[in-house]
Amino acid sequence: MRHASRLHPFHLLLTLAVILPGLTACTPAAKVEPADLVLRGGKIVTLEEGQPQVAALAARGGEIVALGSDGEIEPLIGEATRVVDLDGALAVPGLIEGHGHFLGIGLARMQLNLMATESWEEIVSMVEEAVAKAKPGAWIEGRGWHQEKWTSPPQPNLDGLPIHHSLSAVSPDNPVVLRHASGHALFANARAMELAGISPATLAPEGGEIVRSGGGEAIGYFRETAMDLVARQGEPNEAELRRMVELASEECLSKGITSFQDAGSSIETIHLLQQMATEGKLPLRLWIMILDSNPNIAAALPAIKVTGAGDERLSVGGIKHWIDGALGAHGAWLLAPYSDLPTSTGLNTTPIETIEESARIAVEHGLQLCVHAIGDRANRETLDIFERSLAAQPDPAALRWRIEHAQHLDPADIPRFAALGVIASMQAVHCTSDGPWVPERLGDERSAAGAYLWRTLIDSGAVVTNGTDAPVEDVDPIPNFYSAVTRRMSNGEFFYPDQRMTRQEALRAYTANNAYAVFEEDRKGTLALGKLADVTVLSRDILTIPEEEILDTTVLYTIVGGEIAYAAQ
Ligand SMILES: [Zn+2]
Repeated sequence: MRHASRLHPFHLLLTLAVILPGLTACTPAAKVEPADLVLRGGKIVTLEEGQPQVAALAARGGEIVALGSDGEIEPLIGEATRVVDLDGALAVPGLIEGHGHFLGIGLARMQLNLMATESWEEIVSMVEEAVAKAKPGAWIEGRGWHQEKWTSPPQPNLDGLPIHHSLSAVSPDNPVVLRHASGHALFANARAMELAGISPATLAPEGGEIVRSGGGEAIGYFRETAMDLVARQGEPNEAELRRMVELASEECLSKGITSFQDAGSSIETIHLLQQMATEGKLPLRLWIMILDSNPNIAAALPAIKVTGAGDERLSVGGIKHWIDGALGAHGAWLLAPYSDLPTSTGLNTTPIETIEESARIAVEHGLQLCVHAIGDRANRETLDIFERSLAAQPDPAALRWRIEHAQHLDPADIPRFAALGVIASMQAVHCTSDGPWVPERLGDERSAAGAYLWRTLIDSGAVVTNGTDAPVEDVDPIPNFYSAVTRRMSNGEFFYPDQRMTRQEALRAYTANNAYAVFEEDRKGTLALGKLADVTVLSRDILTIPEEEILDTTVLYTIVGGEIAYAAQ
């Protein structure tokens, strides 16, 4: 929301005309209001056509009030102005996380971090240590493990998955739940399964699976909707939620993120975030997709749909759905069976009719529908839903509906993104972390023709955005940018490198395109007069340095609304 008291860009131009030497007679009486913040001596890339690069920027009242050379900005420096000498560093429009789970980042910091574990035994010993410090009966939760990262398979195992006994032995009294890195499966110990009443007779809910050994015993691995059976019941309390927001904000700001698009929060959580926004306790800007049942959403609307609450810190603009699961856990919904699991084509995790009902609500209330779709079947079904639901719209593209991930596509569906104006909300870093095992799941042919096709999508005219899906991946934009422009995997090899983005495209995907993807392009995404003074300053020029040096880049400053929200020590 613009504040009426602030200068309109047009007024600002008049003001500058008065103060800039040579433009008009400069009288000592013509006072200019000093800026709150001035950045100077940098390479400031604006992503604006008329003025793509400047050395200095001034902000006042949270907005950009001047862009130009150091000399041009000088008159805006007053006694109280904070001046930052960039010393040649690169400043870019504030980086926007395009798809992540904001509270999940905070929660992950409150749990065992299993992202770097290289074996099942290592995980079991981490749990053993946690048990020693935990109160009797307290839940032990962890996340981030991935069997493909293990140097050797667990013994014993079922299709590479561990059996719960070793885990249950180190934690007989504390329920343990360890979420898979994909977020689409979890591993539970005997105590957690006992509390949930899991027996050989327990049926998995629709869209989920309880993995069982030959004898019918649950091994501890629960896929998709079956996770709800064993997960800790009950929502976190308000103090816990506030702590998560605090931890997530701290982490995002330290990594240069000024705005964050949250891929799904419950109505209850949204109410708390609204409260925190008005209390001035959201240090960065959030845009949220509502994740709740259709009746709950319908009952909460229109009150829950807000734009720019709390000094433009919070907007709620989308409805989130999952039409399928994740590829790693064989949950992605495919047109043809998995190459490494020929009995399965994955899972449809939310009935089509439920998503269509959300589509009706979204049209009625002007919300964006945002559907998680990984597999080629999931993407096709989602495009079909969008097409049907938007058929009566004079301009379907104007609604900017989104497919989250758009990860594996049948080539026939690619032109449909641009034709329907559907945003491909992608995560480049998924390609390079998962790339080493994607051909196992899909086979070489499907991987080449349809996996992470951001180049083809851009060339087809679709808007492609970038994000990390944090805490699935680290929220750090630098490795994600690197993935987008190199497609170089952790094993050093390249995943179909013809699909690379240029560096300019990758920067746009993280800024202007992400702003467009939530109708915020008037306020964010580029550096221009009157836009929010959200800026990220980097230690290296990621637009020109040799490719292999990109990963050495660090964040020097994260500026939100003209205030330095993070500064490197
Ligand atoms: Zn996600």
